[in-house]
Amino acid sequence: MEQHKPTQVVLVSSPGLGHLIPAIELAKRFVVHHNFKVTILAVTSQTSGRETHLINSILTPSLCHVINIPSPDMTGLVDQNDAVVTRLCVTMRQAKHAIKSIISKITPRPSALIVDIFATEAIAIARELNVLTYVFVASHAWFLSLLLYSPFLHHKIQGQYVDQKEALKIPGCSPVRPEDVCDPMLDRSDTQYAEYLGLSNGIQQSDGVLVNTWEELQFKTLEALREGGLLSQALNMKIPVYAVGPLVREPELETSSVTDSVVCWLDEQPTESVVYVSFGSGGTMSYEQMNELAWGLELSGRRFVWVVRAPIEGAADAAFFTTGNKCNQVDEVVKYLPEGFVSRNKKVGLLVPEWAQQVTILKHRSVGGFVSHCGWGSTLESLTNGVPMIAWPLYAEQRMNATMLAEELGLAVRPKVLPTKKVVQREEIARMVREVVQGDDENAKTNRVRERMKEVQRSAIKASSEGGSSYVALSHVAKTIVGADGPN
Ligand code: UDP
Repeated sequence: MEQHKPTQVVLVSSPGLGHLIPAIELAKRFVVHHNFKVTILAVTSQTSGRETHLINSILTPSLCHVINIPSPDMTGLVDQNDAVVTRLCVTMRQAKHAIKSIISKITPRPSALIVDIFATEAIAIARELNVLTYVFVASHAWFLSLLLYSPFLHHKIQGQYVDQKEALKIPGCSPVRPEDVCDPMLDRSDTQYAEYLGLSNGIQQSDGVLVNTWEELQFKTLEALREGGLLSQALNMKIPVYAVGPLVREPELETSSVTDSVVCWLDEQPTESVVYVSFGSGGTMSYEQMNELAWGLELSGRRFVWVVRAPIEGAADAAFFTTGNKCNQVDEVVKYLPEGFVSRNKKVGLLVPEWAQQVTILKHRSVGGFVSHCGWGSTLESLTNGVPMIAWPLYAEQRMNATMLAEELGLAVRPKVLPTKKVVQREEIARMVREVVQGDDENAKTNRVRERMKEVQRSAIKASSEGGSSYVALSHVAKTIVGADGPN
């Protein structure tokens, strides 16, 4: 019988675990469900060993092959004061030459190029090769809508978005409150704002967009983006949008001694009695906020696992390019916590310095709540494991995510003040933790957020299963790629 060679696709991902992790999951879907061969060109940050570790842990390198492109030399192009989006865009621009050189050597020629939103300049490479290109949005459809509509808002609105009195209207979608706009829209005079507007134009040059959400979760927004939808019409959009999520990881097979001790401890705790506290790969908070959070956890009287990172004044995304290189020992972080915190809480709490195997923890039956920065990857991991959230947005598009989770979807509680503006006080932290996680002394009571979370968990599983909306959407993309390539 004639043997068909697997269809070859190249996927380009930009620095940051929040980009690399979903890119790998997307690649796996193409490999496992559609028998594709995927080469991921992963541009990694110079300092984060976690990205390299993740790349080395890929189990099927023959079908899902990752080429690490270390971040190019950025001397003189950006400095530490430049915002994350500026640094990402400049990095990807500088890496374009390396990306092109690698793609041109891949044989047989790839049938499609898939790029993340920071890598849209690579679309030109695909055009030269005359192959299809898709943009992969690791975040959700409401964020995509705001991004696509931003060049219009740029002309419609005068002054800073955060100073507007009314919410920003996006046709067919929920309006975005001025205080919720994503980071690059905070200051129109910052370089990252111009970069951000450029991303929106870049996406429209592609043949389609894959977004990490699913129909049942964001039906209204996806409807607006579809051909004939209100937003699609306003944008005069010519490309389809496919909801292919949730793309989330399974627990890592290779554990560590830290993970083993966390799991051992969780095994001994009652079901859904522990709150997990973590702010993603890049989140940091001020010393004052960290102190208040520690007191809040203690006051709540609930059990906790807290991934602690050294406090930093100023940027909430300070660890984005450096994750994994600071405090690796509990002793190092303890000095930032209230005096006596560790000894008073040693029976009810665990501190994990810097980094934890998050999916393993969220999957554990003892975990009943997640204090999260609402990065979309963490959010999807919480949703797919049915863990109610305490939304604590810090940077990027996380304020939008928190609003959507708490107010539209009913999957989270959130502080009354924005953690980015004011310090959230210990009493409020304790109240939110108690609202989500039940105490040993309480009788079982109906928890609306938990019930709603279980419904969404079921709909996420259904969307990704064979015949589900996201499975069908990705199959459609796969068929288009195979069709455009012609017979082998
Ligand atoms: N993550 C993890 N352990 C940590 C912190 C983060 O495994 O201690 C993983 C998390 O599971 C998620 C990713 O890193 O898959 C972070 O992505 P997300 O979109 O939540 O946020 P970002 O880090 O991009 O802000």
